[in-house]
Amino acid sequence: MRILVVEDDVNLNRQLSDALKESGYVVDQAFDGEEGHYLGDTEPYDAVILDIGLPQMDGITVVEKWRASGKGMPVIMLTARDRWSDKVAGIDAGADDYVAKPFHVEEVLARVRALIRRAAGHSSSEIVCGPVRLDTKASKATVNGMQLKLTSHEFRLLSYLMHHMGEVVSRTELVEHMYDQDFDRDSNTIEVFVGRLRKKLGVDLIETVRGLGYRMQAPNDAR
Ligand code: CA
Repeated sequence: MRILVVEDDVNLNRQLSDALKESGYVVDQAFDGEEGHYLGDTEPYDAVILDIGLPQMDGITVVEKWRASGKGMPVIMLTARDRWSDKVAGIDAGADDYVAKPFHVEEVLARVRALIRRAAGHSSSEIVCGPVRLDTKASKATVNGMQLKLTSHEFRLLSYLMHHMGEVVSRTELVEHMYDQDFDRDSNTIEVFVGRLRKKLGVDLIETVRGLGYRMQAPNDAR
């Protein structure tokens, strides 16, 4: 899962980005509204954390522009504590949620997890696919109750496939959601990661859809 953090306060931006990375997300950072708007317009994100008060272009305008051009990714706005009007304006502009400053990073993380899950159609913090359970809160996965030892790449891959269970996910899509913008992306490596993940899972849940990509689904859901 790939997140964009748009916040001009360098320390706060870093604090959020570090916490997200620790939770297994890939993070791109922007420090003004124009840069943030551009990234959100051109790169696919699973969620965006967007400050309201930004240089170049304010957060409300940024989210308005994204929505006007059909960008539907979940957006959490960071607002000043006492400015209730900012919260209303943010939601009206198309934001999905907000967190008032000052906040605990844990609260932002919980809201990010919830928004990503809901966008993928899952309401519980645990996503289950046959014998595999993904704990989105602890960033851990088990097979038949046994903890899986996954690298960060393998975890991101599993997490993305499970959030999109039953859907065919292309290699390009996986690359775009597993690496940040600065990473040297090679969609051939995805095949290697899928191979390793299959081995670790030990159960055949990830199907290769020839020419299209991969699909993860529980055996009894298969058509
Ligand atoms: Ca600010």
